[in-house]
Amino acid sequence: MARMQQSTSKKRRRRPEQARGKMKKRVCHFCSERVDYIDYKDVAILRKYMSDRAKIRARRVTGNCPRHQREVAVAIKSAREMALLPYLGTGR
Ligand SMILES: [Zn+2]
Repeated sequence: MARMQQSTSKKRRRRPEQARGKMKKRVCHFCSERVDYIDYKDVAILRKYMSDRAKIRARRVTGNCPRHQREVAVAIKSAREMALLPYLGTGR
């Protein structure tokens, strides 16, 4: 697999978000909905937690709590097995 080309021109470090206190308090979607089982057949929801290359988004992106992030990951993986979701996205 070809790696993305690294841009050598700009290397900027992002400042940690704690610097200015908590900016956003993001609540896990599934916690707020009180979902305790994430259905792997719910492709519409699972899609939101995948990138366009069909990669599972990291928790810092999704804002999920550890427990639900894990369940999302498991659900996506089983959805892949059932061919409901792709293993690889369109972008190569
Ligand atoms: Zn949660």
